[in-house]
Amino acid sequence: MVGLVVVGHSRALALAAVALASEMVPDQAVPIEVAAGLDDTTFGTDATAIMAAITGADQGDGVVVLMDLGSALLSTELALELLDDAVRERVTLSAAPLVEGLVAAAVSAAAGATRPEIAAEAANALAGKQAQLGLTPEVAPGGPAEGTPSDASFVVSNPHGLHARPAARLVAEARKFEASVELRNATTGSAWVPAGSLSRVTTLGALEGHSVELRASGPQAREATDALIALAGRAFDESPAPTDEVSPPSAAAAPRSPASPPSPSPLMPGTPGPASTVMAGRAASPGIGIGPVWHLGGGTPEVPDEPGQGPAIERRRLDEALASVRAEIDRVRDATAREVGPAEAEIFDAHLLLLDDVDLLDEAHRRIRDGEAAPHAWAVAIRRTAAAFEALGDPYLRARAADVRAVGDQVLRALLGVAATPVSGDGVLVAPDLTPAEAAALDPATVTGVLLAAGSPTSHGAILARTRGVPAVVGLGPAILDLPDGTSVVFDGGTGDVVISPGAEQESAFRRRAAEQEASRARAAARSAEPAVTRDGVTVSVGANVGSVADASAAPGADMAGLVRTEFLFLGRDAAPGVDEQEATYRAIAAAFDGRRITLRTLDVGGDKPLRYLPGPAEANPFLGVRGLRHSLAHPDLLAAQLQAMVRVARDYPVDIMFPMVSTVDEVIAARRLLGPAPEDLRVGIMVEVPAAALKAVAFAPHVDFVSIGTNDLTQYALAAERGNAALASLADGLDPGVLRLIDSVARAARGRFEVAVCGELAADPAAVPILVGLGVHELSMAPPAIGAVKELVRTLDAKEAAALAAAALTQPSAEAVRNLTLGGDRGPT
Ligand code: PEP
Ligand code: MG
Repeated sequence: MVGLVVVGHSRALALAAVALASEMVPDQAVPIEVAAGLDDTTFGTDATAIMAAITGADQGDGVVVLMDLGSALLSTELALELLDDAVRERVTLSAAPLVEGLVAAAVSAAAGATRPEIAAEAANALAGKQAQLGLTPEVAPGGPAEGTPSDASFVVSNPHGLHARPAARLVAEARKFEASVELRNATTGSAWVPAGSLSRVTTLGALEGHSVELRASGPQAREATDALIALAGRAFDESPAPTDEVSPPSAAAAPRSPASPPSPSPLMPGTPGPASTVMAGRAASPGIGIGPVWHLGGGTPEVPDEPGQGPAIERRRLDEALASVRAEIDRVRDATAREVGPAEAEIFDAHLLLLDDVDLLDEAHRRIRDGEAAPHAWAVAIRRTAAAFEALGDPYLRARAADVRAVGDQVLRALLGVAATPVSGDGVLVAPDLTPAEAAALDPATVTGVLLAAGSPTSHGAILARTRGVPAVVGLGPAILDLPDGTSVVFDGGTGDVVISPGAEQESAFRRRAAEQEASRARAAARSAEPAVTRDGVTVSVGANVGSVADASAAPGADMAGLVRTEFLFLGRDAAPGVDEQEATYRAIAAAFDGRRITLRTLDVGGDKPLRYLPGPAEANPFLGVRGLRHSLAHPDLLAAQLQAMVRVARDYPVDIMFPMVSTVDEVIAARRLLGPAPEDLRVGIMVEVPAAALKAVAFAPHVDFVSIGTNDLTQYALAAERGNAALASLADGLDPGVLRLIDSVARAARGRFEVAVCGELAADPAAVPILVGLGVHELSMAPPAIGAVKELVRTLDAKEAAALAAAALTQPSAEAVRNLTLGGDRGPT
């Protein structure tokens, strides 16, 4: 079979084109190689990569190369020069348009066409489009339309007519026979076209209900005719609910129609209403969210009617605002690409392009030159651009007006120094992503839920939503951002199901479920202040993870605060808090715990939590970089000040101090040295989050009173799966037996030497609780809303049975097997 090579500037574009073409020939593995982009994200072409692709695609019958533009041709010509003569002679460079040409070439290659035939097919690939647009295709006309009898005819039954997929199927079938088959659209009176040419068949413009005539000659004319009529009778093997072959860029993440949900959740209550739409994301914070949508940073700020301060000043204002918005969109784009997927991140590329749109900028610049202030000039230019989009015929492009306005508003806010909407509002917050600082500011009294385009369940944004008891679904893709303010939604943060504009029955089913969950939460809460003791008398301390003073007040059932994430005090501001401010905050938390122990963790920044006022050098892998205790030891003044504030509070309240992200014993010794004189009963511990620390846990024994296992980070490092990466969210499962063995290593080292706790998200996972208890972990700390339910669960356990279960879990092959062992397969989050 002849091979194909795609040469282009963008790897993503080339791979998508190949995926599209391959869909046209599902049963045939056409050898198609890609030489596009310098890497996954950098545009460019590379002659060596093209050589390798040609060699890879050549199975002896030669290769047709399709290229996009400019240097793609130059690099391909260079690659040809570098190839052996024998290979070069088998290569044809095609001038065809990349996408259309590749589709036509793939179909004819799959049908066994020769290299010149494939090149000709690709070259004619625009014919179908030209015919549909009423332009004259530059291809040889078909046979005469009149006076030639047809052998047979069929009526097109496909709802979208003979579009690319069924046409490709027809061509493939026609080419199987030793026969010359021609078709014409009898309904429109088209010319005859060869059935073996995709580009020509698409010029028929055969719509549903059109009658297509067929004539065949050659030794297998009869068989070919019979096969094609049979194929037409089967609607060209197209599935009953075909989709358009060309989807808008965001279609991958677009809401699913309830008519064809890919994987209806057994947990989805009620019947969808006629106009409702179902989306599936990742369950991130349990609970039912109901309400109208509002957007973070939404609304067009009021533009003051003020004169410009002169073109130079106003132009600089605009340039600075554009630069800051560009940096912000870049950040969200990267997070989306990482956490949801590159395709979904493309919407932000479009936003970035808008910031460089020549027409838009020309208009704004002209107005500034004419004396207008930058905000006014920009607002008018944006309004006009949005209106131009709204006037377009294509519904997808029309909808992009919303993007123009969103980006326009972002720049306006930067120009006017208006902060984005604070993280409070009535209803369900929709946002691209939440920074830890934004998530920390969520007000559960008004925010009834959070739906994020990006994010994963163990990202800090999701953890903080859980801590606030705000239901959340993440990783929904950018389609969620298109929902207008006020759209009604219902969702289940425990399953990831989201229904937009629900029907009445569906909404009341969600409300019923919310009431049931509330009732069982209330039952657990009623007993949550009592200790959690197993049936055989082992007490498990169940505490709260706290990220603000408000969290501390909302944790009445907690036996202690097993983790106070002090970074909430350091993030989202322009300077570090002083010792006094820190002392006051830690004191307020200790007071809220009213005599119960609090574990103050020293600053855990770096990774996904950079400090604006202490920027470090850019790191290729921030999660493997200067974060946690490494960051604190790199800024000893900051750590010393924090320890001083903690020690002051420890004089009046039971306080533990804990160092995060410890890798070596020397780090602990260095950190303890900065502690200075401290009350006798102050306990010092470390978080075990690095696999090496887990395996050598015994070495820390002389230096610590306790160890708390941070399973969020331990899991990401053990499985090499970044915790915020939505694509890896199912891999990053703390129940993986590899992670459990690390926990077991710590628990064994702890016996008789130090206390051991777990404060990662695993501590609240009902499948994990029996195993952790069985491994000997007798302190669990979690988001406060989970405390009541975990205490109830502990009360059902027998510690000896749990130990046997844990021993069995360590020998399982996978996290799924462990879950099956404890929950009988239920993967529902807490
Ligand atoms: C952890 O890593 O499990 C942990 C509790 O710390 P954080 O989530 O704050 O990184
Ligand atoms: Mg951690």
